[in-house]
Amino acid sequence: MKASSYLHIGFDDTDSRDGMCTTYLAYKIVEYLRREQVRFLDYPYLIRFNPNIPWKTRGNGAVALKIITERPEAIKKKIIEFIKKYSDTTKGANPGLVFFQQEKIPPTFEEFGQLALSQLVNRNEAKEFASKNGIESFYIGNGQGLVGSIGAIGYKFDDHTFELISYRKKSNFGKKREIFKDSVMKMQELTYPRTFNSYDDKKNRVLIAPHGPDPVFFGVRGEDVDSVIEGTSLLKTKEKFDGCMIFRSNQGTGAHLKNELDVCNLKPFSSGTVTGKVTDEPKVGKGGHVIFSIVKDNKKIHCAVYKPTGLTQIASKIIKGDLVKVGGGVRKASKNYPRIINVEFLEVLQLEKNLKLVNPTCHLCNKKMKSKGKNQGYQCVKCGNSSLQKILQKIPREIHKKLYLPVPSAHRHLTRPLQRIGRMNKKIEFDDTREWFLRNNIKNSSTKFAIRLEPIISLH
Ligand SMILES: [Zn+2]
Repeated sequence: MKASSYLHIGFDDTDSRDGMCTTYLAYKIVEYLRREQVRFLDYPYLIRFNPNIPWKTRGNGAVALKIITERPEAIKKKIIEFIKKYSDTTKGANPGLVFFQQEKIPPTFEEFGQLALSQLVNRNEAKEFASKNGIESFYIGNGQGLVGSIGAIGYKFDDHTFELISYRKKSNFGKKREIFKDSVMKMQELTYPRTFNSYDDKKNRVLIAPHGPDPVFFGVRGEDVDSVIEGTSLLKTKEKFDGCMIFRSNQGTGAHLKNELDVCNLKPFSSGTVTGKVTDEPKVGKGGHVIFSIVKDNKKIHCAVYKPTGLTQIASKIIKGDLVKVGGGVRKASKNYPRIINVEFLEVLQLEKNLKLVNPTCHLCNKKMKSKGKNQGYQCVKCGNSSLQKILQKIPREIHKKLYLPVPSAHRHLTRPLQRIGRMNKKIEFDDTREWFLRNNIKNSSTKFAIRLEPIISLH
């Protein structure tokens, strides 16, 4: 009997803005690995990293696969071929692929991945890390994909979610996706809060499907395997899908905004939070975005809230002295602004009293007095009662001490949605007795909807 090996496989940055998708490559590789009858140790990981790096492919998502095999060398060779074949290198992808052939992953891998969640990690650091730690690495292009590849195999979940992603048949790539909107709304209604970010009620938009030419048909995100299967089974579409696969993911966990930004050294493209007092009141700029600034450790930090987040109304109502916590990504300086935080959430921690000097009110008539002229005091026009000074009036605040999140359509993959606030999923054990991968070979041309319950139910 041959000895079997643990093999951790990580890859990243195989997609480009108008072509392939890293999760689709994972789907193809898993299909192959199942034919090879390897033993899977976990669901495929879909790990999102810092969404604020400049060269990110669509979602800055990397994939890790964890298996036991008797033929590691043959498998590695084949996966390298997959990466070459399916990466969109002509359109700007810089794929990375790593293999780590040991059972346990050293904790330094996780630390490396944590950095990649909130910082811009240089590809040379990844190359160095790989060679120091016995990682076999391969890349095409500049090697930027190695960063996420290493981070993905080392990722330790303190909270996690699932996504069931369905893929299109090749003949449908680039065509319009026909998913019935009402079925998405209904699905959300029936499965919320076990699924998340499927439909944006405020913007009336379907959020489960991308719009580009990539092979993803749609993805249902949820708290566990049952919820994403149930959600998927409730959807109705016109198109027959090729197959689907369930990923364990850090989506919806807010993992990129757990750290505090260093206000003394606000690095461009880093993500995190800053808590400070509002010092410059909000100004509404061109296009309706809102700019304000806060102070922390005597450093003034500029913050921008953009219109599509749906947070500009709230942001425009903060005043000087409010204590707020903002989370987001640091944008590099432009002509008009120094480094600025693009706000992804706004939490109001303390509200300052909003006091305004106003003309005094006549206590007899309950009417506002009129000014008698400069420095001459105020008088009631009705009864003649007079007063010398203006009075301070407390203006009711229109915002509350609470966390304000963008509308779901403006969420990043990593954004922690409202119903997930405070929720932490302990690691759900991998259950290989239940199907988590499906190739839809069932010929069923008479059915009206491509995604019928039959193929999906067979996932159970
Ligand atoms: Zn009066």
